[in-house]
Amino acid sequence: MQVFKFGGASVKNADSIKNVASIIARYKKDELLVVVSAIGKTTDKLEKLTKEYFRGAADTFELLEEIKQNHQVILTELFPDRLHPVYNDIANSFVEIEWILEEPPVDPYPYLFDQIVSIGEVLSSKILAAYTSETGIETNWVDARDYIFTDNNYGEAKVNWQKTESKISNDLPRILDKFVIITQGFIGSTSENFTTTLGREGSDYSAAIFASCLQVDDLTIWKDVPGVLNADPKWFDRTELIPELSYTDAIELTYYGATVIHPKTIKPLQNKKIALNVRSFINPAETGTIIRTTNSGLAIPSFIFKVDQVLINIQPRDFSFIVEDNLSHIFNAFHSHRIKINMMHNSAICFSVSVDDTGENIEELLEELEKRYTVNLERDLELITIRYFNQQTIDRVLVNKSIIRELKDSYTCQLLVKNI
Ligand code: ASP
Ligand code: MG
Repeated sequence: MQVFKFGGASVKNADSIKNVASIIARYKKDELLVVVSAIGKTTDKLEKLTKEYFRGAADTFELLEEIKQNHQVILTELFPDRLHPVYNDIANSFVEIEWILEEPPVDPYPYLFDQIVSIGEVLSSKILAAYTSETGIETNWVDARDYIFTDNNYGEAKVNWQKTESKISNDLPRILDKFVIITQGFIGSTSENFTTTLGREGSDYSAAIFASCLQVDDLTIWKDVPGVLNADPKWFDRTELIPELSYTDAIELTYYGATVIHPKTIKPLQNKKIALNVRSFINPAETGTIIRTTNSGLAIPSFIFKVDQVLINIQPRDFSFIVEDNLSHIFNAFHSHRIKINMMHNSAICFSVSVDDTGENIEELLEELEKRYTVNLERDLELITIRYFNQQTIDRVLVNKSIIRELKDSYTCQLLVKNI
């Protein structure tokens, strides 16, 4: 039994969907559950739509129309028969959004976000399931909301593992006996049956949840890169493929910001010793990277770049020490404004952190912190993390940059830098 996960880029147009169906066809003899993300940039577009709706803007139906069009183009290419039931099915999913937009917003934003944005995955999975079925594969579309149960922390819901595991392990193996299952990433539901999402880019995590609850042999995440590389090709020209990686190295790399796999993915897999393959949907014959229990450390240094960092320096107004009491107040403020700390450092009277420069949230955080502390900001910084660093690797990334902060432990070096 296996779980496959395909991200938005792998289903971005009709040809990509045909390619995904051909990968599924190769493995259809195994028991196979497929998790899919929303098509291309649909999630971003639905997020924008939700924001506009929430602030009472007039253009929400235009934004929706654009998303409908994107899906329509794909449908007409994949299903020449205009009477195919998938057309109705997709139209009905869009109606769910229309119903929301027709009324003024009364519910809180995170709740609305989940009800609207989740439809992206419903659409992509319906299209993929209908198309795979057309190609002669026995396919069963499954609503992930009937299997992944969460609390009601909309936007970043926490999984109820016990309930989820019992439902998945009771019901799905029977279906997998006969069909390839196609389901959604990213979404779940509360005990009152409201849709939730698991956090942006959370489809990898969904795939890990299904893999763990089904106790499969392995999970494969199909990507537009050859596997896990030692740096993001967006920032680095000479990247190398890492053929094998330990769970520990994988979790450390994702923790520091490697975006190849969602950080929450590794834990459930490691706990059940399920191997994770990261492979290319462009070259499906290549084996990519395998993440599993292994004693071999990373043979080559890995680099993680995070741009648009802002350094926040926080100092108690009365020159008192930065101690537990202050720290717990500061951490709570970050937590309640949903701001993730990428690097931190403290001295006797100053605590400094580097975070993604996310605009609005940061302004609100500052307002709160400034009640007790003197706060100053330094913007336009870059955070470079090197796992298995040496002096040569540090010199390599510091060309034309000066160091603002530097943190090292035995394996990892973090450099907060600015351009000179
Ligand atoms: N479509 C969702 C997002 O873009 C989930 C995912 O792609 O993993 O955040
Ligand atoms: Mg996505």
